[in-house]
Amino acid sequence: MSGIDALPPLREVIAQHGLSAKKSLGQNFLLDLNLTAKIARQAGELTQADVLEIGPGPGGLTRGLLAQGARRVLAIEKDARCLPALAQIAAAYPGRLEVINGDALEIDPLAHLTPPIRIVANLPYNVGTELLVRWLTPKDWPPFWESLTLMFQREVAERIVAQPGSKAYGRLAILAQWRCAAHIAMSLPPGAFTPPPKVSSAVVHLTALPAPRYPADPQKLERVVARAFNQRRKMLRAALKGYAPDIEDKLIAAGIQPTDRAETVDLERFCALARLV
Ligand code: SAM
Repeated sequence: MSGIDALPPLREVIAQHGLSAKKSLGQNFLLDLNLTAKIARQAGELTQADVLEIGPGPGGLTRGLLAQGARRVLAIEKDARCLPALAQIAAAYPGRLEVINGDALEIDPLAHLTPPIRIVANLPYNVGTELLVRWLTPKDWPPFWESLTLMFQREVAERIVAQPGSKAYGRLAILAQWRCAAHIAMSLPPGAFTPPPKVSSAVVHLTALPAPRYPADPQKLERVVARAFNQRRKMLRAALKGYAPDIEDKLIAAGIQPTDRAETVDLERFCALARLV
C-alpha cells in the first residue's frame, strides 16, 4: 500500500507518464496524498454524493476524493497526457471514476451526474474564477450543486469571504455570500505544490443556501454591484450617477447615504437597492 490507496506514489506516476508540468495549463500539482485527502475531507460527506472534479491532472485530489468514499467522481481534464494516469485510478475504483478529456469551460457535465452533487477543484486561477462566477449565477436557485470546494490564490479566497469595510470586499464577496455560506477551509504555502506557484493558496468551501439571504433580482443585483464597485473609491452618488432615475433618493430609500462608498455597503442594503432600480 502507498499512502491512501494501493496505487503508486504520485511522483512515480508523473515520471511514468511523462507529466512535466505545463505552465500554459496552470499546472501546479499536489503530490502529497495526505494533503489531498485533507482537502477532500473539506468537501463534506461524499459517500452519498457525485463529485464533479475539474482539472484532476495526475489525480492526487481524485484519489483523495475516492479514498474519502465519494459515491462517484466525474473528472474533466483538458490535458490528454493525464488520461493514462487517471485510467489507472479508474481501474482501482471500478465504476466510480469517469474521466472526460476536454475544456471545463465548454462541457456541460450535468448529463453525467446524479444529485446530490458536490464540486471540487484545484484549477488554474483564471479558469477557477470564471467557473466560480458561472456556478454562482445560474438562472434558478438552488443550483445543481450543493457545495463548492475550490483552491484559489489566497488573495482571491479572501475576496470571496470578505466583509464590508475591508479592501477585499467587492463583487465576488456579494455574489458568493448572497446565496451561499462561504469560508476559507485551509491555507497552503507555495511549497505544497509541484512546481511551487509564486503566491500562497487557500481552499474555499461554499455551501448553497436553499434561498437567497435577501430578495433581489439576480441580474439587477449583479449589474448594480458591478457598477458600484467599478469605481470603488468614488462616493456612490457619483459611481451610480445616471444609473437609474432619482438614484440619490433610491440610495436613501435603501438605507445608503449617497456619500457612502461601495465597500462600506452590506449585502442587505445592496439587495434593497437592487429592488429599487
Ligand atoms: N488537481 C490536480 C492537483 O491538485 O494536483 C491538478 C491541479 S493543476 C493546478 C490544474 C489542472 O487543471 C491541470 O491538470 C490542468 O491541465 C487542468 N486544466 C487547466 N485548464 C483546464 C480547463 N479549462 N478544463 C479542464 N481542465 C483544465
